[in-house]
Amino acid sequence: MAKIRLSSSKIIEDASGTPHLVYDVIESLHPWSEHKLLQGGINGAVLVTDPTRASYRTAFVETFIDNTFIRGEGNTLEEAENKAWHKYQARMNCEQHEWEAGTYKNGAAICRKCGTFERHVFSAEDLNQYCSVCRVPTYYHFEVQDNGETYLFFCEEHYTAPDDLTIENLLGEVVFSPFEKKK
Ligand SMILES: [Zn+2]
Ligand SMILES: [Zn+2]
Repeated sequence: MAKIRLSSSKIIEDASGTPHLVYDVIESLHPWSEHKLLQGGINGAVLVTDPTRASYRTAFVETFIDNTFIRGEGNTLEEAENKAWHKYQARMNCEQHEWEAGTYKNGAAICRKCGTFERHVFSAEDLNQYCSVCRVPTYYHFEVQDNGETYLFFCEEHYTAPDDLTIENLLGEVVFSPFEKKK
């Protein structure tokens, strides 16, 4: 069995009055590796970026295991852990994954037999992604052209972020202003 750390937490003061953040932890139902820490919650928000689907709340149990992320969702924690466990079993019993990149352009893929998601499966060459300037294989950045008919890829050296999207501009207020005020 393993421990599942829940997203619910409370602050407990120790004898000296120092506050500590303490998460609720429960025992897993299934024999995940003993040293594995899973995480879960009964009211996790899932923000869906696909405009045809609504965001929702769900119970969930999830973990990183063997280079992949496994997650189950359900009405209760038990149901969520059962789903995650069945995904994990399907992965363990899949003798030879058949990887499919689908819409992933970062090397990640999904096995069409067991549904396992894994990162770093395909190289940029496997995916036929070459910088449109210098032709080196890259996953650094891509731009959609012609309504998704074609993609343009850029390596780190040849990708120029639009001015208003630089990290400095996005984080400038948050990161730098507290220090500037001290001047
Ligand atoms: Zn598989
Ligand atoms: Zn390039």
